[in-house]
Amino acid sequence: MAKTGTKGVWIQLIAILAGAAAVFISCRSGDAVIETRFFLGTACNITVYSGGHKTAVDHAFMRVEEIEDRMSVNIESSEVSEINRNAGMHPVKVSADTFFVIEEALETSKLSGGALDITVGPLVETWSIGSESAHIPVDAEIIGLLSLVDYTQVVIDRIKQTVFLEKKGMRIDLGAVAKGYAADAAEKILKKEGVERGIIDFGGNIRVFGSKPKEEPWRVGIQKPDSMRGEYFGIISGGEMSVVSSGTYERYFEAGGVRYHHILDPETGYPVQNDLASATVVASEGLRADALSTAVFVMGLEEGFRLLKTISDAEGIFITEDMKAVLTPGLEDRFVLTDKSYTITSRRTVPTQ
Ligand code: FAD
Ligand code: MG
Repeated sequence: MAKTGTKGVWIQLIAILAGAAAVFISCRSGDAVIETRFFLGTACNITVYSGGHKTAVDHAFMRVEEIEDRMSVNIESSEVSEINRNAGMHPVKVSADTFFVIEEALETSKLSGGALDITVGPLVETWSIGSESAHIPVDAEIIGLLSLVDYTQVVIDRIKQTVFLEKKGMRIDLGAVAKGYAADAAEKILKKEGVERGIIDFGGNIRVFGSKPKEEPWRVGIQKPDSMRGEYFGIISGGEMSVVSSGTYERYFEAGGVRYHHILDPETGYPVQNDLASATVVASEGLRADALSTAVFVMGLEEGFRLLKTISDAEGIFITEDMKAVLTPGLEDRFVLTDKSYTITSRRTVPTQ
């Protein structure tokens, strides 16, 4: 644990960690407790200010570990692994945590017309992007696996709290949503244990909570796609919020001059190809922001923007490959562009790509 913070001194948490999307957060505060642990395949940071103590942070991380143990496809005993093993055979009873995350993900799948689809598991496994075995599968393999990708074949029973995948071979993967949920859950523990304000940064999946002294807003910097971690192109300010980005720059490999990144198009089975470099969603809850950031990235600028405009508590920033920042109207007064090589192109109308 590192303890830092001199009264009245700006504390800058530089999120140079794996997966960092929103790159810095700063606030003026008294003593802070800052701790980093490795969970969910990334470095997870928790910073707590007034009322914060190490025990609360320890308990929050225990909760994150519990969520990972339930939802990781890399842990054989997890509930998600159990659901996947029983695909095509029988429903699996799961914890309220896992059920909630799956139910919410399916809701976002419906909203996004299947752009977010947690049944991409077989494709994620085959591509293995982010691991040493990452490779381009042959077309026939991808076509074969696409028959296993269909969120409408995830059957959930709210009374029995069970999840069933209709077809043998189907696999769910909660990589696009569970970090956001873990951040929400960590916040609940911290607040219950008396922490008044803090920052949760799970690999760039940011949650800031509590009110700042003197009503100062939180300020969250947004990663420049394709720049060094820690470089940001603009700052969002506001009260309690989750700020989550999805982009081509997080996990990828290159072959023949083409970048193969980890966000897959459930229709084609290939990494999404549109003009976006990243999509950031700002929402009141982490799970929602995480699910939507992946969804709108897959949908692309025009459709993604249109979707966010229909959701009252979610706003977004889209960054195109040619460095245009497109904001939804709710961020107009909350976003400051700090890197003038980017331009803000449209704020009110649905842009066309
Ligand atoms: P997001 O945009 O939020 O999510 C992208 C991820 O979602 C992809 O990596 C893929 O897993 C999945 N996905 C891709 N396309 C779609 C789609 N269209 N719809 C729905 N989902 C899609 N990483 C490790 O290296 N080792 C680990 O052991 C490990 N364990 C993890 C355990 C948990 C519970 C979680 C939540 C994540 C874990 N990760 C691990 C990280 C994970 O594999 C993803 O890389 C990470 O969650 C991506 O998050 P993101 O915010 O960068 O991107
Ligand atoms: Mg996501």
